[in-house]
Amino acid sequence: MLMLQQRQQIVDYGVKMVRSGLTTGSGGNLSIFSAEDNLIAISPSGIDYHDVTAADVVVVDRVGQLVEGGRKPSSEMGFHLALYDARKEITAVVHTHSVYATTIACLHWEIPAVHYLIAFSGDKVPLAPYATFGSDELADNIIASIGAYNAVLLANHGLVTVGKDMESSFNVAEEIELVARIYYQAKSLGQPVLVDNDEMKRVADKFSNYGQ
Ligand code: 13P
Ligand code: ZN
Repeated sequence: MLMLQQRQQIVDYGVKMVRSGLTTGSGGNLSIFSAEDNLIAISPSGIDYHDVTAADVVVVDRVGQLVEGGRKPSSEMGFHLALYDARKEITAVVHTHSVYATTIACLHWEIPAVHYLIAFSGDKVPLAPYATFGSDELADNIIASIGAYNAVLLANHGLVTVGKDMESSFNVAEEIELVARIYYQAKSLGQPVLVDNDEMKRVADKFSNYGQ
């Protein structure tokens, strides 16, 4: 089976996405790009994450032609492929319907630097204008809005994150959901005090060598 390891990772992270409360049912989708194969493994459309097996994960080429798999690929394959074209440094894309991020996206707001963990995205999380799920227009809006950020809100829809591997894309989704929740709660009580630009630059510097 082509890209077996990546397909299994998509299965595992799909379950993790549901268990972490970042999505429900078959909502959202995940993909991994293999530079070695120049192919993309992407979650199948509309199958409950708990039921997906590695064989259900679909392998496509850079323009979305089926290479291996008996399932229909995610309806959002278009924006996954567009992100790999636009952002050469990324190898994984995660899309969730996480509740707090989506709440902010339904207001058509961005998430500002309300907490230093916004650095998982950059100095904010931008917003992509609404377009029908699965449409070319949605893919265009995402590419126009994400720039160099690692996360983008989709108006009236959800969140998309990118990273150097699946673990990092997933972490961005999880941390941005936390920041979205904090923003929602802080907004409910008063006017949040934002972290200023100079401080966000210091945080970004520290993030570049954070951890082990
Ligand atoms: P798929 O099941 O086709 O990936 O669609 C889920 C989704 O979140 C659409 O935006
Ligand atoms: Zn969606």
